[in-house]
Amino acid sequence: METVVINITTEYERALKESAELLKSGEVVGIPTETVYGLAANAFDEEAVKKIFIAKGRPSDNPLIVHIAKLEDLAPLVREIPEKVKIMAEKFWPGPLTMIMKKSDRISNAVSGNLDTVAVRMPKSDYARAIIESCGLPLAAPSANLSGSPSPTNAKYVFDDMNGRIPLIIDGGNCEIGVESTVISFAESPPRLLRPGGVTLEEMTELIGEIVVDDAVLNKLEEGAVASSPGMKYKHYAPRADITIIKSDFKAFKKLCDSEKDVTALCFDGEDGLLSCPCVTYGEESDGYSQSARLFDALRELDESGAHKVYARCPDTKGMGLAVYNRLIRASGFKIKIL
Ligand code: AMP
Ligand code: MG
Repeated sequence: METVVINITTEYERALKESAELLKSGEVVGIPTETVYGLAANAFDEEAVKKIFIAKGRPSDNPLIVHIAKLEDLAPLVREIPEKVKIMAEKFWPGPLTMIMKKSDRISNAVSGNLDTVAVRMPKSDYARAIIESCGLPLAAPSANLSGSPSPTNAKYVFDDMNGRIPLIIDGGNCEIGVESTVISFAESPPRLLRPGGVTLEEMTELIGEIVVDDAVLNKLEEGAVASSPGMKYKHYAPRADITIIKSDFKAFKKLCDSEKDVTALCFDGEDGLLSCPCVTYGEESDGYSQSARLFDALRELDESGAHKVYARCPDTKGMGLAVYNRLIRASGFKIKIL
């Protein structure tokens, strides 16, 4: 299959027309959002949704997020809309927030990974919402990477993974947030944070009160344990390089890097000039948003540079840093060294 790329910033009408035609006919299209690129298909068409799992090589028990463009589009997807979801939607939608609710009969097991719940998000990206509106369908979409590799933050990375596997990629430039959405479940009370992302735990707690943080956010799941969010049990965001997170100040980090051969540093902006080993930077030390915007690109750059052994500076876990740390511990296979 030939994979066509259309740049929506320069060919807006054509991008909307061709994506709508393919989506309505049950095909899969790579689309830009503010978090990461998504691999989208008609959420009401089980056969179309199955094509997403094939294109990604994704295990079928790992559910997808359904993307909508307007609040009215939510009701047909869920059994009921909890009061707290309405409050959250009012403040954070459109935005990088996915909310889980009991699913309606219209959501197939292919979308929900056989769970009785469905995850829904209204993206902030104007391009993403225009694509949803122009086909007039809710779009089931996971991240547009091959299963197990870092989520793509630009159309080139989608092409690298999906060339020959899907008919169309819509190029909307770089993703603003750079890590996947926050996932929170309202299918239980108090609500449970399953994945940290662009809307922070602190912002949500301020609005709705108590939120339970699922164990899998910061810890490796025990062998055989049941994951609240199936995505958390799979190896994720993993570059080929072997990453160890170093919990220390910069001085101790530098000493470690200097003392070993064949090390690449994954460090903060400005630190690269102070280290003698090869470096890839991922944002400013004090700014979780600049780190999230860079992290997945940095992981792909590490592979492109041929790095074998990588020592990574450890982000703060407050605010946006929690989402960055959550991805980095998975990229490292939970290897953390405290100095
Ligand atoms: P991705 O967009 O590729 O990051 O994948 C969607 C993420 O949302 C995965 O981590 C899923 O496990 C999670 N997810 C989607 N639907 C549900 C659900 N109904 N319950 C729990 N987690 C979900
Ligand atoms: Mg993903």
